[in-house]
Amino acid sequence: MAVTESQVLEALRQVADPDRGSDIVSLKMVSGVAVKDGHVHFTLEVDPARGAALEPLRQAAEKAVDRLPGVLSVTAVLTAHRPAPKAVSGGGAPGTGAPGAGKQPKAGVPGVAAIIAVASGKGGVGKSTTSTNLALAMAANGLKVGLLDADIYGPSMPRMMGLSGKPDSADGKRLDPLVNYGIKVMSMGFLVAEDTPMIWRGPMVMSALTQMLRDVNWGELDVLVVDMPPGTGDAQLTMAQSVPLAGAVIVSTPQDIALLDARKGLNMFRRVDVPVLGIIENMSYFCCPNCGHRSDIFSHGGARAEADKLGIDFLGEVPLDIAIRETSDAGTPITIHQPDGVHARTYRAIAARVAEKIKAGGGRAAPRFVIE
Ligand code: ADP
Repeated sequence: MAVTESQVLEALRQVADPDRGSDIVSLKMVSGVAVKDGHVHFTLEVDPARGAALEPLRQAAEKAVDRLPGVLSVTAVLTAHRPAPKAVSGGGAPGTGAPGAGKQPKAGVPGVAAIIAVASGKGGVGKSTTSTNLALAMAANGLKVGLLDADIYGPSMPRMMGLSGKPDSADGKRLDPLVNYGIKVMSMGFLVAEDTPMIWRGPMVMSALTQMLRDVNWGELDVLVVDMPPGTGDAQLTMAQSVPLAGAVIVSTPQDIALLDARKGLNMFRRVDVPVLGIIENMSYFCCPNCGHRSDIFSHGGARAEADKLGIDFLGEVPLDIAIRETSDAGTPITIHQPDGVHARTYRAIAARVAEKIKAGGGRAAPRFVIE
């Protein structure tokens, strides 16, 4: 029989917070319960001061739910309530950063030399497709690469990277990323079914992202590519502020940059002092698969001209080609499916440019902290 939300809550009533002498449901610590086909997800809201000390409580809560008949998997995420990050007011000169923004020390991820964000001003411009092919192209260029799908609203990496199944955890604390085509991948999609509607509030987003960044055995990486959530709202800003990013790559379509969406992305990173490594123009022009005729349906070249105007590097252009979509949908991205094809060469050239920029300090090196 399918497990219900009220059964989950009933089970959680049996779990007591040892320090506060009552159960976690009565203490209103449980939120965001989502149940879908036997997969259960919920959040425990805790005082940030108690943070790590509550890991046993999180595990006890997971176990209590796991015992219910019909439960196939349980994911509990600890959320530390912090005051919302102060919105950074706009209007500052590009690159100067708002006062105080981005200045707080950010703990790096041990073993990871550089973290880069791939972002877009809005959804649907091909950010995830670009992140995936960029990460694979960097690996093809000889780097050790990880790919973190921070697009928790619509995780697409499991499908694009041809990966399914759940990450293992040898010690019950840290997750092992899944691996395909030589790169390590972590996605909320491995923990929650892709079609599960999730309603995330700001603090939950950060908690989930922090866990995917820090509680994963990434090992030694030259680059961790983070596929950011689309847009430039609070979640993106908080992420950009709290992760030691070596730089950001903006993906834009020609019409998108003209409509200012991509500029919002640029300004967001500049305001938090994250160097923008450059812009990639996706769906730049259309190549007819039958006759090879090229059509500039979106007034191709807009991103290059805008990049020049904004003083940002133009990293390259990728055409709209049905083969790019079909290979991503089939779980063998074009850089893997046709490694000698024109698109794979384009992605590798872009990847080499990005790697050069990181090396040259186009971004700051992630500070190395040892946690635990
Ligand atoms: P986002 O992450 O920005 O929401 P996706 O990467 O999921 O965008 O891409 C949206 C859709 O467009 C997907 O179906 C994807 O396969 C397709 N797509 C992305 N880039 C290209 C391209 N260059 N040519 C053809 N289809 C593309």
